[in-house]
Amino acid sequence: MARAATATIHLDAIRHNYRLAKSMAPEQQAMAIIKANAYGHGAIEVAKALEDEAAAFGVACIEEAVELREAGIAKPILLLEGFFTPDELAYISEQNLWCAVHSPAQIEQIAAADVANPIHFWLKMDSGMHRLGVLPSEYRQAYDRLVALPQAASVTLMTHFSSADEPELPVTAEQVATFDAATQGIEAPVSMANSAGTMAHATARRSWQRPGIMLYGASPFAAPQEIADQLKPAMSLTSEVIAIRDLEPGESVGYSCTFTCEEPMRIGTVAMGYADGYPRYAGTGTPVMVNGQKSRIIGRVSMDMLAVDLTGLEGIECGAHVELWGEQISANEIADRCGTIPYTLFTGITRRVHKVYK
Ligand SMILES: *Cc1c(COP(=O)(O)O)cnc(C)c1O
Repeated sequence: MARAATATIHLDAIRHNYRLAKSMAPEQQAMAIIKANAYGHGAIEVAKALEDEAAAFGVACIEEAVELREAGIAKPILLLEGFFTPDELAYISEQNLWCAVHSPAQIEQIAAADVANPIHFWLKMDSGMHRLGVLPSEYRQAYDRLVALPQAASVTLMTHFSSADEPELPVTAEQVATFDAATQGIEAPVSMANSAGTMAHATARRSWQRPGIMLYGASPFAAPQEIADQLKPAMSLTSEVIAIRDLEPGESVGYSCTFTCEEPMRIGTVAMGYADGYPRYAGTGTPVMVNGQKSRIIGRVSMDMLAVDLTGLEGIECGAHVELWGEQISANEIADRCGTIPYTLFTGITRRVHKVYK
């Protein structure tokens, strides 16, 4: 027997979600974004599960791409954040990685680089996010310079949305308009949409979609959304009750005694804490399922354990199954309760949690 904290990854759900993303623009391509260890789901396992259908993969940096190449993933891999130092270009070329480029200075570094094979570049425009990218006013010139270099095999036009998850705002339409105006007359593939763009902004669906969070079955939106409702959760975070106690009114639970019973209560201690990646911000009342019955967190989440309310639940003994999020409770709901987004919950799962692939 081992500590029961487990993240079960449903690879068939990830495949279902990828197909849903692809179906939003079936004539175009969808790159599966598996940066940050596939949002905590395991980059190699997810890449292998999608290898037959995904046209390409997207990661943040060369270390993440190396891991995939060493695991035998042969599909194109895009470095979404580009290269950080020019010496990476040799490896990028050797390993046939695709590479984002986000500034005119980088184009000059490429022009000076000695690469074995020309590289497929994705030239990023800052259409309003103001993080990375070539300014719209300088984009045409940057494109002309890059596409003419012998180091460039091709150039795809790319931008990224700041607010696609808030479809009621005009921001995304403005970014699309800025991008389209600045790229007018350029004949090249275009990529704009992350998950929220793919799901909610038809005009943003171009040659390549870049779905990330939706592959893992969480919604990028705060409100219910038609496509989001069709996603299947890919991660179930579960553990077990390891101790049970009956408390009297006036007795408290956990660090700092933040919860005090007002009536007799039965409390279960669960092997799951913030060092597993379960958020410490999950306060009293955060939903959890115990043997399929709805319950709630009581008191503070500690490093290795948390407490749940077993009062009035039927047939709970030590070893009872606890779902923190997954098929019965969505990661979106937990994230919302904690003032965060499912991205941080998934990427926060630590290596102490056993991963099981189904
Ligand atoms: C992470 C990332 C994505 C995927 O975003 P989601 O919101 O998870 O779909 C797409 N494009 C770029 C450039 C990214 O960095």
